[in-house]
Amino acid sequence: MGVSVGIDLGTTFSAVAIVDKATNKPKIVLNEDGEKITPSVIQFQKDYNTGVVTTIVGSEAKEAFDMGEDGCVSAFKRLMGTNKEYYRFDGKSYTSVDLSAILLKYLKEGAERTLGDTIDEAVITVPAYFYSAEREATIQAAKIAGIKVKKIIDEPNAAVMAFGLNHWRNNANILVYDLGGGTFDVTLTHMENDGFLRAIVTRGDHVLGGKDWDARVLGIVKNRIQEDTGFEVDSDMVFSKEVMGLAEGLKKKLTFSDTASVNINIPDYGSYMVKITLNEFDSNTADLLNKTGSLCQNVLDEAGMAWSDVTDILLVGGSTRMKQVSRYLEKISNGHKPLSQVNPDEAVALGAAIQSSKQNGGYASLSVQVIDGKKVTDRSKQGFSPNETVEGEKKLSGLGMLSLCETTAHAMGIVAINDEGNQYYNEIIIPANHPRPVKAAKKFRFYTSPNGNNELSIYVLQGDRENPLDCQITNKYVVTGIQHIKRGEKVGTVIRIQYSYDENGVIHIQARQERSNVDLLIRRESAVYDVSKFGKPVANDSKQNGFQMSSVTGNRVVHKYKAVTFSNADWEKYDNVPVHPSGAEYNEPKIHVVANEKNIEFHGYNVSNMDEGVMYTIGASDDFEIECDINTSTISPHPGGYLQISLGAISARLDQNGGDILLDGSVAASVGSKFHLNMSLTDGGHYEVKINGREVGDIMRPTMGGVDVIFGFVHESHCCHLISHAYVSDITMMQRSGDTDDSPDAETWED
Ligand code: ADP
Ligand code: MG
Repeated sequence: MGVSVGIDLGTTFSAVAIVDKATNKPKIVLNEDGEKITPSVIQFQKDYNTGVVTTIVGSEAKEAFDMGEDGCVSAFKRLMGTNKEYYRFDGKSYTSVDLSAILLKYLKEGAERTLGDTIDEAVITVPAYFYSAEREATIQAAKIAGIKVKKIIDEPNAAVMAFGLNHWRNNANILVYDLGGGTFDVTLTHMENDGFLRAIVTRGDHVLGGKDWDARVLGIVKNRIQEDTGFEVDSDMVFSKEVMGLAEGLKKKLTFSDTASVNINIPDYGSYMVKITLNEFDSNTADLLNKTGSLCQNVLDEAGMAWSDVTDILLVGGSTRMKQVSRYLEKISNGHKPLSQVNPDEAVALGAAIQSSKQNGGYASLSVQVIDGKKVTDRSKQGFSPNETVEGEKKLSGLGMLSLCETTAHAMGIVAINDEGNQYYNEIIIPANHPRPVKAAKKFRFYTSPNGNNELSIYVLQGDRENPLDCQITNKYVVTGIQHIKRGEKVGTVIRIQYSYDENGVIHIQARQERSNVDLLIRRESAVYDVSKFGKPVANDSKQNGFQMSSVTGNRVVHKYKAVTFSNADWEKYDNVPVHPSGAEYNEPKIHVVANEKNIEFHGYNVSNMDEGVMYTIGASDDFEIECDINTSTISPHPGGYLQISLGAISARLDQNGGDILLDGSVAASVGSKFHLNMSLTDGGHYEVKINGREVGDIMRPTMGGVDVIFGFVHESHCCHLISHAYVSDITMMQRSGDTDDSPDAETWED
């Protein structure tokens, strides 16, 4: 049997560690070159005789990179979680996952050679602030590299575990300040009784790190060269790369002295000495440091703590070696001298190794409270209070005593519609900084249709901002295979949705219908590209005109948990057309249509000719209702044409000035340009039409074989349809007030 290791998969450096069997302590596993840390750099090389492409990883690749050689790639962790091409070599495209897999394979094989043993599984660390997609990408990369991931843990937590082993103090609040090459994380952790480490709050910026400081040095150097020699660095690609390679070296020199200099050869100029001072460096990077400072402050605010409640600040990450970091932290924290008991390069890997010797824990139950209208983690049930007496330092007697409870860096929510029915918002299900792994289940009433697919789509968000567009829209989850429950027997069916953060910080959605103990199948789709609608009002003019979305569903419905879904395939093709192909202008207002299961919104375009139409056939036994406010003066049919809206036997023929509402071919009412129209079909053939709330006619007519619903312009028997931007949002997730069966919280279930 092989061994378990911990891997710190860093943006700039990576490291592998293992728990030493003899001492029962974590130790770094040297790489093939005998080094403790491995630069996260790859160089691709092609043998032009054989055409074979090979890779070099680590120090040699980094040297080549710094020399500006071809085929070198680094810092690919920054684009983890996207499918974007990060690098192309010899016509082949590589994503961050592909590149991370090459690096991981190298780390694994090097460590196996050093250990003389095979590696079965690994705990891999990621920045605490990584989203679900970035964590999944890390797991994916490991899989490609032939490594089974035992667990993904957060880098700051790993570091503080390694620290805590020898420096444990019950009730201490340790702020981990982790500034690496490409990412920054700040995490407040609490040492509970004898080895139980709890992450409380974490914040971060995963595109802020040493690289940004390098870029500032580069800026200073470029300006200096230009000023002194007149040579523009960017005008020469090769030279520019060379200068770029110098920036990091200059920065590092400033750790040990107050000035740093290096000689370079400038084309057409000759030897030149670049010199920069610590003062220059500090003043040119002060804003970057301030960014980290405000994130520290956010963490404290969120934990309800002041700097005086912080027992110690632990420095992690190579960039904390910069002199400015300790000085700055000492200043903003009112005198805390940051701790340097851990090696900032190794602590993360050592902590991962400790975790690799442990079993994964169970799920926490959801514990939330609402403060100022926002769902946040209720910490009162956790054993954490900022001002308990901190006990004396001790060494834990063994690794077995250490255990870790991590936290959700981001809230998990879904796109929903507010109570007023006019705005999309992020309905938080699991708040940020909640202990993880965690599960929460909600019940929703779902109105099914006998025809077609009963699918329920859920847009899942990560982030705690109210506007969905300020969050990360992770995926669209389409729940399929929902059985139709006949109307009359029961109003709709109950779907239970389970949302979870697993032990790796990856999110999952599961669903079950009624009391079934089998999960419904869920299709995961990447969020549609046009999500901009989530930032727009649901129905701009609905309130002004007194039009209430709840009119169809009645007063029973509380819209709070109504999910916004776009699941009906027939309609979906009209979605995502932000600009009409003809270049026609967007013509507000929209026509808002509510059918019993579908909420359809049309945006008109001024078009003269297009072959897109909107027609929908509903089943013979379905109830259907169209309700809209119409202001015909704002639409422009083709001259001589008219707007047609019809529901089987009822139709409206309208031009700019209004027109006729027909029932079974005869005029039931004539309308002006502004009116409220309600057409409904119920009980398998009962048609009813209302204008401004007043009934203007009804008939019974059998609806064998279904009924067509049409929206469009009709002109000279040629249908040039008005509607090209339409969307359907099934009114699917509902909570009925006062009905316990529909209470939003349901029991969670095991897989
Ligand atoms: P990551 O975890 O992102 O891979 P590391 O924690 O290994 O990053 O830190 C790498 C970063 O630390 C690089 O940006 C590097 O330039 C910086 N660094 C390392 N040593 C020093 C030093 N002596 N002075 C300043 N920065 C340093
Ligand atoms: Mg690191």
